[in-house]
Amino acid sequence: MKTMLLIVSTFLLPASLFAAQYHVTQGDVLTIHRSMPEGNITLECFGKRWPVSRGKNGNVWAWIGVDLKTKAKSYPIIWTSGSWRAEDQLSVSKGEFRISHITVDKKMAVFDKETLAHIRSDQRMLKNSYTARVDASPFIHLTNMPVTGIESTPFGAQRYVNGEPRSPHSGIDIAAPEGTPVITPLAGKVLVVSNMYLNGNTVAIGHGHGLVSVFSHLKSASVKEGDWIDRNKPIGEVGKTGRATGPHLHWGIRFQKARINPYSILRQKKQE
Ligand SMILES: [Zn+2]
Repeated sequence: MKTMLLIVSTFLLPASLFAAQYHVTQGDVLTIHRSMPEGNITLECFGKRWPVSRGKNGNVWAWIGVDLKTKAKSYPIIWTSGSWRAEDQLSVSKGEFRISHITVDKKMAVFDKETLAHIRSDQRMLKNSYTARVDASPFIHLTNMPVTGIESTPFGAQRYVNGEPRSPHSGIDIAAPEGTPVITPLAGKVLVVSNMYLNGNTVAIGHGHGLVSVFSHLKSASVKEGDWIDRNKPIGEVGKTGRATGPHLHWGIRFQKARINPYSILRQKKQE
């Protein structure tokens, strides 16, 4: 009898507490707020560790970023604390992404060896910023856009440059007059200030826990690497540097390297 009870309890307890199913669209951030046992909880999904933090009421907050090209299917979410382990499910659904055609000068579409080296070095610089360590709270509540304007290219759009297919658009483009101030909607440390071949004048800001904002095609940047910038403070001005058909801000967000729709961050409710 004693053995049977033991089997029943080990079987039922984890199942009744967990195996919740979360739904998220490609390119979005999933925010989880739920009760959890005491202790230091870690969270793993897509083979990566994601931030977990205790809120005011003792429940945990956790965030998972889903890259825009993540295959639409179900993935395990694994919670651990010491020897304790529980599992939930994350169901990823397909995003609806547009097709976008742009026509640019040949030098912005076909690259010689030297230019290609420049582009690769720009890409490396940004890639390194995605894993730079920044100590900050993981709470991601944004209230403002970095600039007021009209969205000219949406997130995830399949790009064609002079008729050739390219990588999907990893951010949103907001058209605004040249010189319009750009603010950082979330506080962070300036990780990159660089004049890039395709992205033009670019600022990357690390918000902690692998959350990084990238602002491109700026006319000029008013911050320098290593600066700490509070939320809603200026970082530069809208421009059309690099490969741009007109003045606009390209705003991209990475979360543990995943390409994230900035609107999914803006939609986050207040977290405390
Ligand atoms: Zn863009």
